Amino acid sequence: MTSLRIEQIPVLRDNYVYLLRDEQEGACAAVDPSLATPVLTALARLGWRLTHVLNTHHHHDHTGGNLELKQATGCTIVGHRRDAARIPGIDLAVDDGGEVALGGVRAQVMDVSGHTLGHIAYWFASEQALFCGDTLFSLGCGRLFEGTPALMWASLKKLRALPNETRVYCGHEYTESNARFALTLDAHNPVLLRRAAEVQGLREGGLPTVPSLLASEKAANPFLRADDPGLLAAARLDGLDPVAAFAEIRRRKDVF
Ligand code: ZN
Ligand code: FE
Repeated sequence: MTSLRIEQIPVLRDNYVYLLRDEQEGACAAVDPSLATPVLTALARLGWRLTHVLNTHHHHDHTGGNLELKQATGCTIVGHRRDAARIPGIDLAVDDGGEVALGGVRAQVMDVSGHTLGHIAYWFASEQALFCGDTLFSLGCGRLFEGTPALMWASLKKLRALPNETRVYCGHEYTESNARFALTLDAHNPVLLRRAAEVQGLREGGLPTVPSLLASEKAANPFLRADDPGLLAAARLDGLDPVAAFAEIRRRKDVF
């Protein structure tokens, strides 16, 4: 029984801001507001009042609207305690394993560092919805700006352990190029081939490929499969341990 309404707002070149509203109590959060104006416009159109900003990490394309939104609405800004100095306007500092209440709906906070140190994901178990910023993308993962391959692999394994039905709301629409890269490693994976065809159709129609289903990511996203002998054989990475295989897949993507 889902009580969270989710609106997806495309901003900048390829960012997504999400508006979440708890329909019982009217609490409303903007996840990673890059900019304030498109969020305020969407709130006015929907007749929603913003009560929270949920930040996944400090990058400007995820926090750029924080201060203006706080000034306009008085919302509470939530971010990782460890990154409090880099989250503009932070009011509520949270840690791994903590909870955030949005009206009657609760999100579990997961530390999924690697893209940055102090990156979190918000998992709404009752809604089967995961907001994971730039850690996990559909068919990809974030670049390692601050963390090591071992840290990012550990973070991705935490996300991989969530239920198959989880919908993955990530920070960017990168799926089409991620699919092209994934096919260079794993050209005969039927789940990947199906997803790549679906993605192409969606993009040709100007439609988002996000959210994706975690079950499909587990089967087709190479960055979740660095310990899968099938992928390692296809990508000629046999014999590497998972962290080394993950690091090599990430390195190949960085130069793709
Ligand atoms: Zn980022
Ligand atoms: Fe980003």
